[in-house]
Amino acid sequence: MPALPDALVDIGANLTHESFRADFDAVLARARAAGVAQIVVTGASAGGSRAAQVLAQDHRGFLYATAGVHPHHAHEYDDACDQLLRELLQAHEVKAVGETGLDYFRDYSPRAAQIEAFERQLAIAVDCGKPLFLHQRDAHADFLACLDRVRGRVSRAVVHCFTGERAELLDYLDRDCHIGITGWICDERRGLHLRELVRLIPADRLMIETDAPYLLPRDLHPKPAHRRNEPMHLRHVCAAVAAARGQAPETVAALSSANARAFFALD
Ligand SMILES: [Zn+2]
Repeated sequence: MPALPDALVDIGANLTHESFRADFDAVLARARAAGVAQIVVTGASAGGSRAAQVLAQDHRGFLYATAGVHPHHAHEYDDACDQLLRELLQAHEVKAVGETGLDYFRDYSPRAAQIEAFERQLAIAVDCGKPLFLHQRDAHADFLACLDRVRGRVSRAVVHCFTGERAELLDYLDRDCHIGITGWICDERRGLHLRELVRLIPADRLMIETDAPYLLPRDLHPKPAHRRNEPMHLRHVCAAVAAARGQAPETVAALSSANARAFFALD
């Protein structure tokens, strides 16, 4: 296990997902044993954000939470939801607004509803001063337009699970965004371009995440029998990012963890 200064921080894990219910404590134990020192639990709906905050309360200093509504759930965003997010974000262990953004790939919620929910959450970030945890898929132009309206008034922003192209990455870096890289980079079918692009991310802008239970790295050996991803595999993501950048895994561990602790103001 790496020494504490290089211990990993998983900035995005959906630990409230039902697939973790049966063996939650074992998942956390495996993460710790694999050198993951802190995990930011993603809130992606009203109920999920509440649940993430409870987890963070129960595992102080190890788990933290975000509070937000994913664009897939944007149709559920109403005044009560807005109020709940604002309340959750007053808690010390709730560290960012999100997951929020736009997703025109799946279009599970109408685009107008997505934009409205996104704009309301951007306003929350302006009001509470906490950073943004952002999701964008196939919606780059509208996403940037929304972000640009508030960028000077929000503290920090991370585009999580970045999977886009060079021009999109440069747009985010121009806006002083941090970039979250997942095990997508391990996917030889659709992640190869990321192995070039991660070299363009400045050392003080890079963070890593598993997005568990999603995005199990495709090149894990041995492959788990189930398809569930876990925070313990962050180590594998770290090694893949390091190889792509031509750096030692310890270097990427140290810089991504330092970035994550500063970005989310972890203890
Ligand atoms: Zn996402």
